[in-house]
Amino acid sequence: MSEPLVVIGNGMAAARLVEELGRQALGRYSVLVVGAEPHLAYNRVLLSSVLAGEMAREETELKPRAWWEKQGVTLVYGRRAVRIDRDHRDVWLEDGARLPYAKLVLATGSDPIRLPRPGMDLPGVVTFRDHDDVGAMLAAAGPATRAVVIGGGLLGIEAAYGLAATGTRVTLLHLMDRLMERQLDAEAASLLKAALEARGITVLLGADTAAIEGDGCVEAVRLVDGRELPCDIVVSTVGIRPHAALAREAGLQVGRGIVVDDRLTTSDPAVHAIGECAEHRGTCYGLVEPAYQQAAVLARHLAGRAASYEGTVLSTNLKVSGVPVFSAGDFVGEPGTETIVWRDPELGTYRKLVLRDGALAGAVLFGETADALWYLDLIRSGRPLGRLRDQVVFGRALADAA
Ligand SMILES: Cc1cc2nc3c(=O)[nH]c(=O)nc-3n(C[C@H](O)[C@H](O)[C@H](O)COP(=O)(O)OP(=O)(O)OC[C@H]3O[C@@H](n4cnc5c(N)ncnc54)[C@H](O)[C@@H]3O)c2cc1C
Repeated sequence: MSEPLVVIGNGMAAARLVEELGRQALGRYSVLVVGAEPHLAYNRVLLSSVLAGEMAREETELKPRAWWEKQGVTLVYGRRAVRIDRDHRDVWLEDGARLPYAKLVLATGSDPIRLPRPGMDLPGVVTFRDHDDVGAMLAAAGPATRAVVIGGGLLGIEAAYGLAATGTRVTLLHLMDRLMERQLDAEAASLLKAALEARGITVLLGADTAAIEGDGCVEAVRLVDGRELPCDIVVSTVGIRPHAALAREAGLQVGRGIVVDDRLTTSDPAVHAIGECAEHRGTCYGLVEPAYQQAAVLARHLAGRAASYEGTVLSTNLKVSGVPVFSAGDFVGEPGTETIVWRDPELGTYRKLVLRDGALAGAVLFGETADALWYLDLIRSGRPLGRLRDQVVFGRALADAA
């Protein structure tokens, strides 16, 4: 008989896990997925494209309903799991329903962080995490609207770009002295700033938010240096926090995220965690590729085969039309590394490669990213460049021809 396997969270990691289980452990489990959002699982990455008007909301669905039915999965969505009873192996839902499990997988993602500043709870302050957030932004957007986006990381830039595409007048605030400082070096970041400004976005660096002001709704953002930025909507994109509350309350080991070992198993052998809610070897990832790799490893483990997740070398692509940006690995160039830089101001392209012990350790590409996956593969393989070194900065075509 199939063992009951409950997945909490109906996001990207959960959908991939179900797909992998269908391939690797068909029939072994009777799978039930419970999700708080009132939709089938969708591709969260594409929310930026929906905001920018480049894609319809319906196109973000990961799998049609018929696919879930074919997998034999019971879907419970629009309902939140509120408690895990590990002694009796039950998950409790907010409406009092009880779901027994033999195996439990937590795939609860992250929660967006709201800056701990006065006024962050005023109507008109939104985050950027789900379809409701995009709906709220689009409802407010338009040429008569002034928006302030707080946070110049990937999400903030994509929010600013998407809003600007609707005609909204956008100011992007970033606390640091350059945009996307965790993915870009100073030169690429300044090219990015110029590209956003060319799209009509005002970018303020070193901008520390003191408070959101307004009488009943958002009217302005006040900075620590005293500047007031009048606005009608504020988008907070200052980071995410792994959604680990359920696990913590159930007595599982939790650090920043739900602590898992290389088999994605928590401190309870019957409970696993994957995706943004998980903390593996001290790292909580905020990108989808690690979630997919973890889903594949966990499915293999649940199928009774040897499997180990060793961590993921991260890469980032910015999804802003006409501004190709890619970054991966050690792009800073720590002591003991060598750096190769190639720039073409006329074309607006910039390429920085970081080498360690003769192998590619990191890369930043701006303006031209066609070879991004090739560089990523070189970084992940860790293989010495050898004769490739002379051509590697010019991209794959030249290197292959040499
Ligand atoms: C606008 C945007 C753009 C992004 N762009 C990129 C990108 O370009 N590249 C990239 O790699 N990543 C990107 N990401 C991040 C990517 O979407 C996440 O890494 C990915 O969705 C993580 O998958 P997950 O399944 O762990 O979490 P999620 O997809 O967030 O799914 C978790 C689900 O669990 C549900 N849940 C939580 N608690 C409960 C509960 N108690 N009961 C029931 N359900 C619950 C949540 O409602 C949610 O639906 C982007 C994210 C956003 C918001």
